[in-house]
Amino acid sequence: MESKILKFSSLCLAIMIVVSAAFMYYTDTYGQERYKQQPGQQEEMSGLQMLEYYTEQAEESDEVEFEQQLCIELPEGMGMEEVLIENDYVKQLITVEIPQVGADYFVDHPLLGRSNHINDLYMADGRIEITMDAVYEPQCMVEDGRLYMDFLRPQDIYDKVIAIDAGHGGGAPGAIKQGIMEKDINLAIIRELKELLDKNDRNIGVYYTRTEDVNPTFEQRAQLGGKAGANLFISVHSNSTVDGLMSGYNGTEVMYDELKSEEGFSSRRLAQICLEEVTASIGSKDNGVTYGNSIYIIRNSEVPVALIEVGFMTNQQELDNLTSPGYQRKAAQGIYNAILRALEEGF
Ligand SMILES: [Zn+2]
Repeated sequence: MESKILKFSSLCLAIMIVVSAAFMYYTDTYGQERYKQQPGQQEEMSGLQMLEYYTEQAEESDEVEFEQQLCIELPEGMGMEEVLIENDYVKQLITVEIPQVGADYFVDHPLLGRSNHINDLYMADGRIEITMDAVYEPQCMVEDGRLYMDFLRPQDIYDKVIAIDAGHGGGAPGAIKQGIMEKDINLAIIRELKELLDKNDRNIGVYYTRTEDVNPTFEQRAQLGGKAGANLFISVHSNSTVDGLMSGYNGTEVMYDELKSEEGFSSRRLAQICLEEVTASIGSKDNGVTYGNSIYIIRNSEVPVALIEVGFMTNQQELDNLTSPGYQRKAAQGIYNAILRALEEGF
């Protein structure tokens, strides 16, 4: 029995060797073929390959030593304040712009460092685009004409982290009633909420899918909570009846993921808190919490999620309310109270 197993495993090993040898031969000849077809033409290195290549060279010649992840040589006399750094959290894209340098700047002054957590790197015309594998906050310092960058996760900076979504946007208006677009109501409420959260003195990191009239993909919206390592994710919408006709039906409801709804810090609990706080703040009818797993951003959220339908655009009174700045502020206050209560509960 044992020798049979032994014979079988040596046969497997032999097959593996033959297969990998054939594969190596194939890839080698394929590579040579391709090279022959394009004489003298070398494949361009990707940004990440350049980073690794130049860093290896610099290490061999002991040129630089640094602890931070990236090192960028700055033009003589340039300080931190002249370097423009932008962070697109939705795309996890960090852009570093060094003004007034030539197209070959990064050829003459290569970027050095480690590729940890960097999915993609692009360099041209004094501009570096760094696509990270999650949301990071860059930490920068300038010393001896060099800009050093490290990347911190939101949870390393903040006590709590939340993700907020204003439904629809850009070319996706959502419901339209009497010329009023749902995307604008949702955004107005989120902007009021942002004002409240900006003023809050607790150490909460807030990441928004949008604060402008733009339309991130469903995937980008659903992933933001997970990518930011958020404790919770709240999406804000305005409701319509199924037939879209004006009616007496009104009130607030909050959707949750019924398939990820264990006891404790669940989507359902978060939805219940949002429902109670929003109805208390705007004085709307409580329509309860409802199943939301059929909704893409609910189903695909990696963190506890609640989708608030603040009120009905198909109800004349609520439509008037939803477009009034005072009511929008109250709705934002309700969501704000819900966030603080959820975080206090331990989300
Ligand atoms: Zn909507």
